[in-house]
Amino acid sequence: MSKYAYKTLIVNVSDKTYEIRKFEPPDVLGPIDLGVKLHIDVYESWKYDVFSDKNVVVIGKGPFTGGKLIGTHRMIIVFRSPLTKTLHVSALGGAAYKFMGTGIDALVIEGKSKNPTMIFLEGDENGNVGIRFEELSIKELLDIYEGYKGRRGTYALTLYLLDKYFFFIKKNNARAFVVGPAALSTIFGSVFSIDFDVNKRSLALGAEDSAARGGGGSVLFKAHNVIAVIAGGKFRPAKTNPKLNDLNLINKISRRIIGKTYVEAVVSATVKYRFDEKIKTGGTFGVNYPHYKDLIPVFGFNMIYLSKYMRMRIHEMIISHFWKPFNDEVFIKTKSWYTCGEPCVAACKKVWKGKKVDYEPFNGLGPMIGVFDLALTRRLVDLVDELGLDAIEVGHIISWIFDAIERGLLKPEDVDLDSKPYFNPLEFRQQYSKHNADLAAKIIEGLVSKKSTVLRLIAEKGIRAAAKELNKMYSDRVRVRGVRFEDLVVYIPFGDDGYVTPNYYWTPGMIAPLFILGRYWTNYTPTFMEPEDFAASSLLRAIKEYEIDNAGICRFHRRWAEKILQSLYSELLGINIDLDNHAKTYYKRIAEYSVKANALPRPWEGSKTMDLISSIASELSVKEWMEKFSSEFSKSINEWWRRFYMKVCMELSIKCK
Ligand code: SF4
Repeated sequence: MSKYAYKTLIVNVSDKTYEIRKFEPPDVLGPIDLGVKLHIDVYESWKYDVFSDKNVVVIGKGPFTGGKLIGTHRMIIVFRSPLTKTLHVSALGGAAYKFMGTGIDALVIEGKSKNPTMIFLEGDENGNVGIRFEELSIKELLDIYEGYKGRRGTYALTLYLLDKYFFFIKKNNARAFVVGPAALSTIFGSVFSIDFDVNKRSLALGAEDSAARGGGGSVLFKAHNVIAVIAGGKFRPAKTNPKLNDLNLINKISRRIIGKTYVEAVVSATVKYRFDEKIKTGGTFGVNYPHYKDLIPVFGFNMIYLSKYMRMRIHEMIISHFWKPFNDEVFIKTKSWYTCGEPCVAACKKVWKGKKVDYEPFNGLGPMIGVFDLALTRRLVDLVDELGLDAIEVGHIISWIFDAIERGLLKPEDVDLDSKPYFNPLEFRQQYSKHNADLAAKIIEGLVSKKSTVLRLIAEKGIRAAAKELNKMYSDRVRVRGVRFEDLVVYIPFGDDGYVTPNYYWTPGMIAPLFILGRYWTNYTPTFMEPEDFAASSLLRAIKEYEIDNAGICRFHRRWAEKILQSLYSELLGINIDLDNHAKTYYKRIAEYSVKANALPRPWEGSKTMDLISSIASELSVKEWMEKFSSEFSKSINEWWRRFYMKVCMELSIKCK
């Protein structure tokens, strides 16, 4: 029998009580297993409001921290999402490198505190964890968000923690997870974390990340009144399991399965994220633009309606004004490569003028909203990080609003703007970027301060429910223009009013009916297949991504990790389990939770979302489906959706409505 146990600290912030519980395999291997188990077997969170204190937030690490394995220090956050209304998983890079010092594997937050609360966790050498609570009044919190040492929001709160609790942070080499103002007023609040540089008594720029998708920060605040977790300590997991430090054993596994030493395997599997000699760039931002070229989503996904020629012109604009300044500065001038907070040979965090540049947030607040200027986008990403928002979601919201103004469904004053954006790609000039960026900044601020009726609606209900309300509020415009609000934005519906927006890839896999979306738990290659084939490949990827996240492994390391993970569990931890089977069982449990929560995938609602499917079929010249879509559009779109969904349900042996 394995001695492995997943050590969990369950904290009730209502009465400030806590207990340690140990969960054992095969029930619980990692944080997602724990989150799914607790939400289903213990708290039955689907029965309550999404902001009920029963919506426990599980913040956990994987079992491979603290040894020789690289990229194994992600923090995983599991909660019921106020967007999708079902369970959601989001991840935060590198933070477990410090969290492991607490001696626990996961923190579970239940109950609701009266005042905004900070939880301090401190582990000793033997893995005993101490816990302390501190509170702020809401006024004190808002004052800090307003400005502390020249910074706002999440950065201000983190700086405040560094000053006020410097001794604790230094002694325990701790890291903080915080929520920002957006968690208080919207459903899109993220959990934000930037590492400390205790020697300089400052923030470690570049080592910042958000568990942003799905609104985990909003749940942390609205359901529990928790604003920060500050965790660290002296415990080292290899003390109780020396095999984590056994490089000979790890090399043996790697050589046997991959045919290379472990470090060779890691280095070759992470080229794209470090520096790819072939294309002379690296990191997600550096690689995606030259790789995907004109398939990159721009102008609120309206590029699906453009000719290849027009798309290539936009691509050239991206390369000159957006990508090249990044590449010249990062790879030629400064060589500013950092890690997310754990030692990692990939060093994927490419820092441009002090700001970490990743593809998704920069595309969302750049080309997606008609901004083709890296400095302007950087300003917007900073703003979104400060406010503790999800940059991907915000990119969809802004481009939706811009498109609605362009199409006459909204007037600028409806969203507290004084002029229209430039959102017609056929007439666009790069110099319009500044105007669009200024308007975008106003919308971002307006969302969090709920400055107009429309922005309040979106902030509180999300895109899908807001679209339905806006159709009623502006029914005359909808009738005259012949287009509904949901026709101008891409989202995946769940249940009656749940949804999530996709990551920025032009592929059916990002919007196909699966149970957790808005992340990479799918086949997201820009391709088109028969729905059953696509479903099988997407489900396979969902299961593999589950395994990687559940092990707390950074998905940029998946190319080596997926190959040896089964052996790492058995030879390092003594857990002999069929991993694929295990992940599939838990993925199925998430689907069953969705049934209970009335949050199963629903057929696509808006024309742009459907057009995304038919356009990629045309783009790839898939003749049979092109003909089907052109002769009977709605019927064929529904057929593709339904066949995909039925295949997924059949593979999981669940009854889907
Ligand atoms: S690849 Fe990047 S995000 Fe992943 S562990 Fe390495 S530095 Fe961190």
